[in-house]
Amino acid sequence: MTETIFAKIIRREIPADVVYEDDRCLAFRDVNPQAPVHILVVPKQPIARLIDAGENDEALLGHLLLVANQVAADHGIGEAFRVVVNNGAGVGQSVFHLHLHILGGRSFTWPPG
Ligand code: 5GP
Repeated sequence: MTETIFAKIIRREIPADVVYEDDRCLAFRDVNPQAPVHILVVPKQPIARLIDAGENDEALLGHLLLVANQVAADHGIGEAFRVVVNNGAGVGQSVFHLHLHILGGRSFTWPPG
């Protein structure tokens, strides 16, 4: 896949406000936050879109969700937060390196826009 800005953030070639890191993923604050807490959880393995993940990525995908739980709890939104994955430009994906948006700290409407 084509390298994205997230690969540069993972390699620390460009700065980001990193809030969590382990051997499989990195979490950092979104540069254009849509809520008081808006953190991206990004696998270090470059997968472009959720649909590009396969059976070999099953454990990684589960890990990203558990990290989302941890990040939300660490930022005081563990009881009410939203996890968003935009898959494809048609629904708003702009960076083609899989990422979970963790959003919280305000109320949200449903269905999402
Ligand atoms: P998408 O639209 O692909 O679902 O989400 C991409 C997100 O990455 C957007 O919310 C955007 O604000 C964020 N983003 C894009 N470039 C950067 C960057 O260089 N640093 C950080 N921290 N976030 C970024």
